[in-house]
Amino acid sequence: MTKNEANGIWVFAEQRNGVLDKTPLELIAKALELKETIGEEVTAVLMGQDVAGLADSLIAYGADKVIVAEHANLKVYSARPYQKVAVELVNKYKPSIFIFPATAQGRDLAPRVMCTLGTGLTADAVDLGFDDEGAFVQTTPAFGGSLLAHIAIPELRPQMVTVRAHVFDAREPDFSRKGEVIVETVEVDADPDYEVLSVEPIVKNGVAIHEAEVLVAGGRGIKNEEDLAQLRELASLIGGELACSRPLVDDGWLDHSLQIGQSGTTVKPKFILNIGISGSVQYMVGMQKAQTIATINTYDRAELFDITQYGVVADYAKIVPAIIDEIKARK
Ligand SMILES: Cc1cc2nc3c(=O)[nH]c(=O)nc-3n(C[C@H](O)[C@H](O)[C@H](O)COP(=O)(O)OP(=O)(O)OC[C@H]3O[C@@H](n4cnc5c(N)ncnc54)[C@H](O)[C@@H]3O)c2cc1C
Repeated sequence: MTKNEANGIWVFAEQRNGVLDKTPLELIAKALELKETIGEEVTAVLMGQDVAGLADSLIAYGADKVIVAEHANLKVYSARPYQKVAVELVNKYKPSIFIFPATAQGRDLAPRVMCTLGTGLTADAVDLGFDDEGAFVQTTPAFGGSLLAHIAIPELRPQMVTVRAHVFDAREPDFSRKGEVIVETVEVDADPDYEVLSVEPIVKNGVAIHEAEVLVAGGRGIKNEEDLAQLRELASLIGGELACSRPLVDDGWLDHSLQIGQSGTTVKPKFILNIGISGSVQYMVGMQKAQTIATINTYDRAELFDITQYGVVADYAKIVPAIIDEIKARK
């Protein structure tokens, strides 16, 4: 597709069991900002079965249009049927930008669509914007997160990108907003190679770390699993969840779902307490948007102190039990 024929900013509106993922709503907010510069409409692309009812929400969150493609073979996400329909829609409507959430689904679908269309894709972007010449620029951590790459796709269209959760804020929904809903009739076969029999959510105690408002995160500075249990107790006492930096996952102490950072989860809690974590770029990129950041570290020049509002230079083994005792005493 040539540059001149492409127009429109698309957001892939991922849903699961008829429930919209929150990340597309954040991406619609960013797409509206992009629209202010290039004046192209924001369209949400919704695929599934019996999902048309979600179009109103997408419009309330800012989409100008919603394209709905429904079919029994789109009921549960499956790579090839979704890929086929997404490619057909792009070929028909010719968007200039196509943004996907960097979720498991978005990370699976976007590269497949990109390959079929023969265009370009930036993975895991943390910002989107335009440079001085008006080129659409996608910013993404590169070389292990030690620098940020600004990537443009100058000629090919659509310019495709996956974007991490929680890097943009969704707008407040306005259910009085009006928008256009286009219902597309699609024909699509089931995936020839596999059948999704059922999708079962992993049942876990507590709230997922990306949804938690309060986090206590432990790092390599934590000496043993008994001490880690204290961090868990502290998290529970302040109504939060336990999280961690990567070494505790690599050591097998905690599940990867609790890892904050570039190769883990991006979090945006109201409060995060970092204990025994130095503050690598790969860790900080996943939590630097927390509202209030507190840090306990023995090393007064640990990088995390640069973004910390409440810092304590101390051995956690002394201060954490003291904090726990104090909270218990006050309760
Ligand atoms: C491609 C790539 C992706 C990565 N993705 C991630 C990611 O998603 N998340 C992530 O976390 N890392 C990630 N990493 C690893 C990252 O580079 C760091 O190695 C890691 O974040 C370090 O974790 P840490 O801060 O817990 O450990 P360290 O850097 O070893 O820091 C431990 C800290 O504990 C302090 N400490 C020690 N004893 C005590 C004590 N008694 N009391 C208080 N403080 C104490 C020390 O002063 C030190 O600052 C990635 C790396 C690469 C190359």
